[in-house]
Amino acid sequence: MDPAAMPDNPYLLLTPGPLSTTKTVKSAMLRDWCTWDDDYNAIGEEIRRRLVALATPATDYTAVLMQGSGTFCVEATVTTALPPNGKLLVLANGAYGRRIAEIARRGGVAHEVHDGDDLAAPDPGRLEAALQSDRAITHVAVVHCETSTGMLNPLAAIARIVKAHGRCLIVDAMSSFGGVPMDLAEMGVDYLVSSANKCIQGVPGFGFVIARRAVLAETRGQARSLSLDLYDQWRTMEDGHGKWRFTSPTHVVRAFFQALIELEAEGGLAARHRRYCENHRILVAGMQGLGFQPLLPAALQAPFITAFLYPSDPAWRFQRFYGDLKAKGFVIYPGKVTDRDTFRIGNIGDIHPGDVHRLIAAIPV
Ligand SMILES: *Cc1c(COP(=O)(O)O)cnc(C)c1O
Repeated sequence: MDPAAMPDNPYLLLTPGPLSTTKTVKSAMLRDWCTWDDDYNAIGEEIRRRLVALATPATDYTAVLMQGSGTFCVEATVTTALPPNGKLLVLANGAYGRRIAEIARRGGVAHEVHDGDDLAAPDPGRLEAALQSDRAITHVAVVHCETSTGMLNPLAAIARIVKAHGRCLIVDAMSSFGGVPMDLAEMGVDYLVSSANKCIQGVPGFGFVIARRAVLAETRGQARSLSLDLYDQWRTMEDGHGKWRFTSPTHVVRAFFQALIELEAEGGLAARHRRYCENHRILVAGMQGLGFQPLLPAALQAPFITAFLYPSDPAWRFQRFYGDLKAKGFVIYPGKVTDRDTFRIGNIGDIHPGDVHRLIAAIPV
């Protein structure tokens, strides 16, 4: 199908994902592929190569693709990376951090949680003290952009402490990877997890883990489950030159490859980051102009998704606000913090400054 002939979506997704994607990404799915054929596996290899290149110029990293949503990849990483006698310290300041702890609990992985204030970054002093006093801790996990509040956690500072104490670092960068330049090797991140349908702007169906090759290579036989065995998945991809274990989401993979080509055409991570920052700037200035207040101070806020407090008017209803915006072509998202009433507006995906200006003009006041 000619992408230009495709009907427009009835609304833009201003959500944490899945996101609005381009017609060319969607139309890349209009072909069937054979999962063991070289034509198809070559796409997987090229995707893996490009993902590592986006994450770091270093050559000692590798990428593993995994079926399922992003959480499947976080679960695969936590339940494969930790050896039987390992212990995970989870730095949680929101729903996604707590989900990592829940994954550890269900997987029988020894763990401890620093469950902090959702409106503050993880406490570096507390992290340092825990790593100093508890030699049993082998791994630390943290969320980069805590999508529930929109907070960008200070990853480089956390990584510096974890590395100074010689521990392994797992990062859920689901909603940030592809939207902000970063260098895993420079920071010392051992595992980074993200998914197809966030800042790379693919469609949902798989996630990926970018890992230090030597660290992943040590995890053979550690996985607590068969299908989420990150090591086996990696070995199959390495040995089979892009081959997946089990049925792969072929159409989604092909669309993701198109999304990577479009990321490069946009000007790479720096250009995408600039667009997201500009979207975010217009969003926050526009909402503030209409009397809405962001949940977080600007210094803690990531440029991907923003939580806004409900207005003080007692007659204001989220459902009505949501419905009015949807009718005008914009879908937003409910809040996800426990003790404050918030709603969220994302500005990632195939969303451009003009779209955000149109949104602000459509906000019911
Ligand atoms: C989107 C997201 C996930 C994964 O969610 P899925 O619904 O499993 O794709 C995990 N962590 C963060 C921070 C996210 O934003």
